[in-house]
Amino acid sequence: MGMKSDIKLIDENGLRIDGRKPDELRPIKIEAGVLKRADGSAYVEWGKNKILAAVYGPREAHPRHLQDSTKAIIQCRYNMAPFSVSDRKRPGPDRRSVEISKIISEAFESVIMTELFPRSSIDVFIEVLQANAGTRCAGITAAAVALADAGVPMKDLVVGVAAGKVDDTVVLDLGKEEDNYGQADVPMAIVPRTGDIVLLQMDGDMTEEELFKAMDMSMEAAKYIYELQKDALRRRYAVIAQEEKEEIESIEEGIE
Ligand code: ADP
Repeated sequence: MGMKSDIKLIDENGLRIDGRKPDELRPIKIEAGVLKRADGSAYVEWGKNKILAAVYGPREAHPRHLQDSTKAIIQCRYNMAPFSVSDRKRPGPDRRSVEISKIISEAFESVIMTELFPRSSIDVFIEVLQANAGTRCAGITAAAVALADAGVPMKDLVVGVAAGKVDDTVVLDLGKEEDNYGQADVPMAIVPRTGDIVLLQMDGDMTEEELFKAMDMSMEAAKYIYELQKDALRRRYAVIAQEEKEEIESIEEGIE
């Protein structure tokens, strides 16, 4: 971010390096319930990002000293696979992933009804399989669907989305070159139903006016991404309903 360069990120038609308009998202695909062993899961492709989220719990928190007698604790782990970036990444937690894990945990604390599950833990694993800028936002979007798939009671889903500034233009959802050579990146996590912002970070510099414009863009985009999340969950429920119907039919056949 903010690296000085001569790379033009907006062309004479006002379009971006990958042909997008300033307020255009990269293509997003969401699938819920992709893993058998987790209580809930989701897979998100967002531009060239590929992200898997898995949820366990609520289950008894271990070690016990972590337990809170009044509510569940949320433990998110954001992890980048060694093969997710162009140079093999050193495996294991680093400063960046520890920080991202912490802010994502905090974002979900404001929507999950933790007080229903004292002494327990809700564990959220976000695995970045392929990274191309915007992984924390894609990870949050995936994790929210995985939590809903796990049946964890929440006030609403959470959408992660970023906006920023490149070539003095406010743009939505920065791609890798824009992230490298742009002027600012503002990742947000939004509760779509209320418009509450549960995470806001800023890397780089922008004026107050530009910041508000970026936030407005992200708010608008969040409504669209929210529909994609709900659609993924609807498709998941349809599959579950079909599986249950077939199970009942096979039991009935056994009785006959
Ligand atoms: P985000 O992925 O949420 O935008 P950053 O702004 O920190 O987070 O990173 C932007 C992008 O830089 C990542 O999506 C990834 O493509 C790349 N990146 C991040 N960390 C590393 C790393 N350790 N090695 C190589 N590339 C990385």
